[in-house]
Amino acid sequence: MARYTEASCRLCRREDMKLYLKGDKCYSNKCAMEKRAFAPGVHGQRRTKMTEYGMQLREKQKAKRIYGVLESQFRKYFEMAAAKRGITGENLLQILETRLDNTVYRLGLASSRKEARQLVLHEHFTVNGGKVNIPSFLVKESDVIKVTDKSKKSNKFKDVLESTSSKVVPKWLEVDFEKLEGKVIALPARDDIDLEIKEHLIVELYSR
Ligand code: SF4
Repeated sequence: MARYTEASCRLCRREDMKLYLKGDKCYSNKCAMEKRAFAPGVHGQRRTKMTEYGMQLREKQKAKRIYGVLESQFRKYFEMAAAKRGITGENLLQILETRLDNTVYRLGLASSRKEARQLVLHEHFTVNGGKVNIPSFLVKESDVIKVTDKSKKSNKFKDVLESTSSKVVPKWLEVDFEKLEGKVIALPARDDIDLEIKEHLIVELYSR
């Protein structure tokens, strides 16, 4: 399965913002953005004025990297968003946010989206009682996501919960850490998505 393989911290430095790709490390002083908050490479510290196209492109790259989605799938999501009622940019973020790997991460059942993706691939979750091992599976309102009975016995989730227990679960989800399960209360609205993404720039890019 295709995925990003470039070093995660380089991606944050390239986008000039924390993308929170590495779990606990992102919240510590080991974060590369705390030490080297400039783009990687020999010209990384050079300041250049960005064109309108450059800004649109960077915004798209940022969103793709946060959610770990490659171009072809991202384009597919954009087409789905454009076909839906409402504001295309907000629809796009809603679709990305409802990916199963992101939902698992938002529930606090994984310390990063990357870890959530691995856990989903390794069949640690069910959705409405059925095993789902597809990270791009899109959850819907009222869906119930549970850690499988077999996985509940492993120490894996004990460790995960130790690192995520202080994180706030967004209001479109509810979680029961005792039972290791969560529910989609409603589809996320733009206000529920705490990411500094200017989604209208992505729409402008694809509308060129
Ligand atoms: Fe980005 Fe996390 Fe690396 Fe910091 S530690 S640069 S937030 S991936």
